[in-house]
Amino acid sequence: MDSKEKKITERLGINRRNFIKLAVGGAIGTALSPLPWKLTDDIAIWTQNLPWVPVPKAGEFSYAKSVCTLCPGGCGIKVRKVDDRAVKIEGRTDYPVNPGGICPLGMGGLQLLYNKGMRFKGPMKRIGARGTDEFQAISWDEALDILAKRISGLKDKGNIGTLAAIDGNLRRSTISVMIERFLTALGSPNYMRMTSSQDTEETASYILTGRQGQLGYDLENSDFILSFGSGLLEGWGSPGRVINAWGLWRSGDLKDRVKVVQVEPMASNTASRADKWVPVKPGTEAALALGMAHVIIKENLHNHDFVEKYSFGFYDFKSTDGVDHKGFKTLALENYTPETVAQITGLDAGEITLLARDFANASAPLAICGRGKGALYGSLYESMAVLSLNALAGGINRPGGIFINDPLPLAVLPDLQPDESAKAAFAKGRLDKEGSKDYPFSSSLFNDLADSVMKGSESPIETLLVFSANPAFTMPDGGDFRKALEKIPFIASFSPYRDETSLMADLILPDHTYLEKIDDIPWPAGLQYPLYGLSTPVVKPLYDTKNSGDAVIDLAKKIGVAAGDAFPWTSYEDVLKARIKGISEGMAGMTSYDGSALLPWKNPSDIASSDYSDLDDMWKSIKENGMWYRPVYPSQDLGGLFKTESGKFEFYSSLIKSALKGIDPKTLGIKASGDEICMPHFEDTSLEADKSYPLRMYPYELINLASGWVPNPPYLNKTLFDDQLKKNQSFVDINPDTAKEYDLKPGDSIFVESPKGSIQALVNTFEGAMPGIVFMPLGFGHRAYDDFLKGKGSNPNDIICGGKDPLSGETVWWDTPVRLIKA
Ligand code: SF4
Repeated sequence: MDSKEKKITERLGINRRNFIKLAVGGAIGTALSPLPWKLTDDIAIWTQNLPWVPVPKAGEFSYAKSVCTLCPGGCGIKVRKVDDRAVKIEGRTDYPVNPGGICPLGMGGLQLLYNKGMRFKGPMKRIGARGTDEFQAISWDEALDILAKRISGLKDKGNIGTLAAIDGNLRRSTISVMIERFLTALGSPNYMRMTSSQDTEETASYILTGRQGQLGYDLENSDFILSFGSGLLEGWGSPGRVINAWGLWRSGDLKDRVKVVQVEPMASNTASRADKWVPVKPGTEAALALGMAHVIIKENLHNHDFVEKYSFGFYDFKSTDGVDHKGFKTLALENYTPETVAQITGLDAGEITLLARDFANASAPLAICGRGKGALYGSLYESMAVLSLNALAGGINRPGGIFINDPLPLAVLPDLQPDESAKAAFAKGRLDKEGSKDYPFSSSLFNDLADSVMKGSESPIETLLVFSANPAFTMPDGGDFRKALEKIPFIASFSPYRDETSLMADLILPDHTYLEKIDDIPWPAGLQYPLYGLSTPVVKPLYDTKNSGDAVIDLAKKIGVAAGDAFPWTSYEDVLKARIKGISEGMAGMTSYDGSALLPWKNPSDIASSDYSDLDDMWKSIKENGMWYRPVYPSQDLGGLFKTESGKFEFYSSLIKSALKGIDPKTLGIKASGDEICMPHFEDTSLEADKSYPLRMYPYELINLASGWVPNPPYLNKTLFDDQLKKNQSFVDINPDTAKEYDLKPGDSIFVESPKGSIQALVNTFEGAMPGIVFMPLGFGHRAYDDFLKGKGSNPNDIICGGKDPLSGETVWWDTPVRLIKA
């Protein structure tokens, strides 16, 4: 450790962020406090002062079990009740994902249920100007009629392609399948999902392995975790599980046997608690991964068995047309020497070499990626580079490595028969150009959608449906999407919350909150074994709300033509059960977990038979216990695993090669040329240097500040420190040297300006902030909700204007040019 790093680490030892200690699972008997001590104090004070904080009358105690769906983590929860009133949420010890622990957001979930100021109490239609929160209560029948007539009108006029939906629910969840089916049945191709780093990782995996399922990370059995910016303690993956894993690495048998290295430009909570913090310039993580690949290959430390038997494109090769191609080995050796990578990343060449050796020499090294919480799309080539590092170490489908999975075998719903108008609308393609020649590897491109809406005199979207998403707040696009919403003639929101996007809506059809409804989580993010989670109501719905799954069925039936036939079910629960049938017929599994039994990751063993007799029995047990899982690792026999053209792990992607045939790579934002385009490589995505914006802004996330669709429970605001939120102002973290250069001192009020706009903040100086970078937390700056959230701090998304991620076309949100002006 050099003196500078030592100084930072010492300082971090007393940094207040380190006081955030989390419940990490009863199973390991952690001594950590279940919440920041500051929160505990505040809860006591708040409990006495806020009218909507549960103060139950005397009554009968009981517990209700469920699964938390506030993030892709899918933790098991038990809710303590006094009569019908829920009073406390705890982690379940009889749930294998998060044995006993949950995160602060999960603990604060009751406020999302009981805080009246955050919720819609029933269907509403807008009576005031957009954004003013002036609505009039209407009945469900009237609300559904309004929307059904509007959609039928589009269909009748042959304009059904102008119907679009934005869906923030989990990929492959039943509600997502229903929403997409609704649009498809009507004939609109414009179903768009909010994307996350899971989409990036799955696309990278599909390109290199040919498999479409989600990646599993065997964190608990790895002895070297190399995290490329993943906020392991900030809410990445399945946070309840990851925090539990962190506790395991630091206690019991594994204590001192697992090394955690955090690659990140800021000394986050994860970096400060890791064994090593590797500060790199934002957006250069791929270069570091490839520099490590260079050292590993040059020093012959790679896994020869994997490379020789199961990979393609490692060596130079001649294609069937007789053309010579460069392979990954040559690319890494020629382009990514430690010295070159040191210049790109700002690291020391010797440090890169040592890191590569440590990684390759570990017994079960695991490299992971997905910045922060993983809630936003990442860099596709970077994810490919990190996946390739795992492949070099032979860490594919091996204990402690990355697991390539197929999706859960949930039943496919009956086929749809598109009519002529539907066929014509699909032929036009999607408004965001997803899947087009321009963007063959994209998921949903909201930046392009906003452009399409803004560019013409009329919006190409006539009616927009929004489910479980708040793009007006969460899109890292400098406020473009918010402006686009103003131009869309009709917006229907299904959100239970009075969020920024709902306030722009003309019609509100409010969903239940997660504690009032049945819903599924097919496979918690990053879990290494298959698990299907089911949340069930722990209290009766407080208000006149409706599960969006049921609302979609009702709407389809009201519209009748086409959509009605596609929804033969009487309730959303019927659809959930229909999909489960696929699992019941596909493979054996378990629907209960005794907390004392061996954990699936500890002793994965084949199971001969299920703990249920038939589909009805299985469904009953899943509803009761919230889970189906199969405590078995995917096969370690790699023959037949890869579904690529070569049948192998492709360091050189034949999929990219064929997708880009006849396309100028520059139209996809790719700066590289030749064979490099088909392989993991570093692309410099920084915008052209503009001297008037000499600094860069890097947004970051905190585990105790919700920054996505789900609002922050007010309790969590009280866990923030005075250098994170002071009265109504949030902070930027900048290095003391950078502050000095711009004549700034702690507490100064400044404007952070980008070419997109300006937001205000206070200065916090922090030695763990990389010089030249302005760090700002995501989650502040709401324009909606109640007094506890509205107007608190600034939202970095309002001024983000990065470039486009090459190949995927997604926004580069981690690298915005900015300047600081004293207020
Ligand atoms: S980690 Fe996610 S799923 Fe688990 S309690 Fe927290 S918000 Fe809920």
